[in-house]
Amino acid sequence: MSRPPRHLADLELAERRRAVAELGEREFRADQLSRHYFGRHTDSPDDMTDLPAATRAALAGELLPRLLTPERELSCDDGATRKTLWRLFDGALVESVLMKYPDRVTMCVSSQAGCGMGCPFCATGQAGLTRNLSAAEIVAQVVAGERHARVSNIVFMGMGEPLANYKNVLGAVRRMTDPVPSGLGISQRSVTVSTVGLVPAINRLAAEKLSVTLAVSLHAPDDEARDELVPVNRRWKVAEVLDAAWDYEAVTGRRVSIEYALIRDVNDQPWRADLLGSLLAGHLVHVNLIPLNPTPGSKWTASRPGVQEEFVRRVAAHGVAVTVRDTRGREIAGACGQLAGEQE
Ligand code: SAH
Ligand code: SF4
Repeated sequence: MSRPPRHLADLELAERRRAVAELGEREFRADQLSRHYFGRHTDSPDDMTDLPAATRAALAGELLPRLLTPERELSCDDGATRKTLWRLFDGALVESVLMKYPDRVTMCVSSQAGCGMGCPFCATGQAGLTRNLSAAEIVAQVVAGERHARVSNIVFMGMGEPLANYKNVLGAVRRMTDPVPSGLGISQRSVTVSTVGLVPAINRLAAEKLSVTLAVSLHAPDDEARDELVPVNRRWKVAEVLDAAWDYEAVTGRRVSIEYALIRDVNDQPWRADLLGSLLAGHLVHVNLIPLNPTPGSKWTASRPGVQEEFVRRVAAHGVAVTVRDTRGREIAGACGQLAGEQE
């Protein structure tokens, strides 16, 4: 398996300066290239008029290789939601989604091509893992979004399990949140890393002392249902996952998000709402209920409206903040991995 070409966004600023020096150029050229990429969102040598014409193309060719090629582009909600299917250097496919709201612009990025976690309701999970994305392949999705709208928020809720690609995801988070020219200058608080519940990696992330938001895809408050919906639960149980989430809450002071896809007659019973509410009560936490977006051929479907409302009421009765996630982009196969699935 060959690796994606090395890119500026894989490197810290000091490493970029060294890389430029190795190419026989003055170190400050690294800062200029970085300003173009992270500040002006361009990788085109023609735009780099502050660099000598003779070296522009060579430097850009070495440090700003094109990592993503658009394969399909879909939009809906009058253009407020844009989904792109990208082809990577080796033919692997990943998706990103840009969502414009009145008060923010959110970019949903992929961290892996495919995913190895095997959640049976998820289109990405069905296909298995192809490979980890490099830090620069993740950042490039955001830079592409920046060319359409000023991105204020990033969620790692596209394809892949971010904490199974820890090093590159952390590099990507730093590039997203470091100030220009090191990175894109997006606030750490506006970045959400969503995980299926890899406990050691959650603990490691807590120790980084970042202010990023942690989202835990719980989907069930009991091990019996969660073992089926989230196979990695056989390794790390509900109680361990929540302990790690509360440690994250304590270390960072950040409110933790709990993701819960409501699946008719599978995890939407009143008693599960009560159990969920009692497990979360007293914590700095917000529950996002996601009506299931059924994958092709799925035996499962979304909860009935009345059942969903009852679920919300019961969780809220424990004093826990709970909302139903808006289902942007559903008509363009908005759920995780569905577009790439169609293509293959
Ligand atoms: N692997 C990570 C992040 C990517 S998935 C994780 O699982 O958290 C992002 C979110 O989409 C997760 O909460 C996931 O459970 C949810 N999801 C996946 N497939 C879905 C579907 N068919 N309907 C609704 N939500 C889904
Ligand atoms: Fe992977 Fe997340 Fe899909 Fe589970 S829900 S298979 S962890 S992408």
